[in-house]
Amino acid sequence: MRSFRYERVADATGAIRAGASRFIGTPTSAPVPFIASGAAMPDLMRLDTMRPQTLVDIRDLRGRHGYVIHDERGLHLGGLTSMQTVADDPTVNRLYPVIAQSLQLSASPQLHNRTTLADNVLQRTRCNYFRNGDSAACNKRNPGSGCSALGDPMRQHAVLGVNERCISAYPGDFAQALVALGATVSIAARSSTRTIAFESLHLGPEEPERETVLKPGELITGFTVPAGPWTRRSVYIRVRDREGYEFGLATAAVALHLQGSQVLAARIGLGGVAYRPWRAHEAEAALTGRALDEGSAHEAAEAAFAGAVIHGDNVFKPVVGRHTLVRALLQAQALQIG
Ligand code: SF4
Repeated sequence: MRSFRYERVADATGAIRAGASRFIGTPTSAPVPFIASGAAMPDLMRLDTMRPQTLVDIRDLRGRHGYVIHDERGLHLGGLTSMQTVADDPTVNRLYPVIAQSLQLSASPQLHNRTTLADNVLQRTRCNYFRNGDSAACNKRNPGSGCSALGDPMRQHAVLGVNERCISAYPGDFAQALVALGATVSIAARSSTRTIAFESLHLGPEEPERETVLKPGELITGFTVPAGPWTRRSVYIRVRDREGYEFGLATAAVALHLQGSQVLAARIGLGGVAYRPWRAHEAEAALTGRALDEGSAHEAAEAAFAGAVIHGDNVFKPVVGRHTLVRALLQAQALQIG
């Protein structure tokens, strides 16, 4: 591991100042060199994938930015709240089950306790070429070098939202629930705080080395999930190779507003199959105004994967992705809402 400077800050202002001034601008530097849990950054530094000159420790911000608040407008979550705190919250489980399930199903119990929500949504891809070794071509790690994953037999790569620059899959879970529920994210910058749609946080693969709209030193301080008639009838399904600590091959976050069997509104996020947290607008449109049954669920799933692009051994992903979405839709429909 390369040497680096360590700085611990007490508040967001100090974090933004320290984060911005230490940014050195090379792709393998941490664009936002903050650590709150230390769950991912040390691994990436050991692998030499990230080379920050300074790490800014923001764990002391948990008091101010670690919270779970419910009100008539929706659910407000601090960016430094632990995954476990939210997954255990009784109101989140009752009113926003897709949020609780996406956190319960991801990672491991140790990481649930340690990792913050902001850490979780900013996790990096598991593509082997990105993480292991400087010698392989990887546009995300070394811009302009190419993509070693094209045509290779690795099976985990994405099929939605990819291009020839990068086909890596976004590995998280919580983000799909946020995308499905139309959440917003609050970002503190040097002179102001802005709030944007969570769906706009992650970028596509046009410049693979840039994964989010966050600028140097900017800090995620919180998330808001708007209240809506669909939040209670919501589920998260995650299909993976084994039940233990494993990333999802295909995931679906679904929230439905039903009148009888008719779909008044459908909100769908997909994961494991896409370059970034993916809102399945085509599938939502295919369901809205129709009766939900096996037939319409399958049609919606076909629409979700109509634009899928296959590389190497990920040919199974649209198949698994469609089945995962159908299961999630029917499971959400069957929920008994008291
Ligand atoms: Fe790099 Fe993306 Fe290609 Fe993987 S898929 S080698 S992360 S450019």
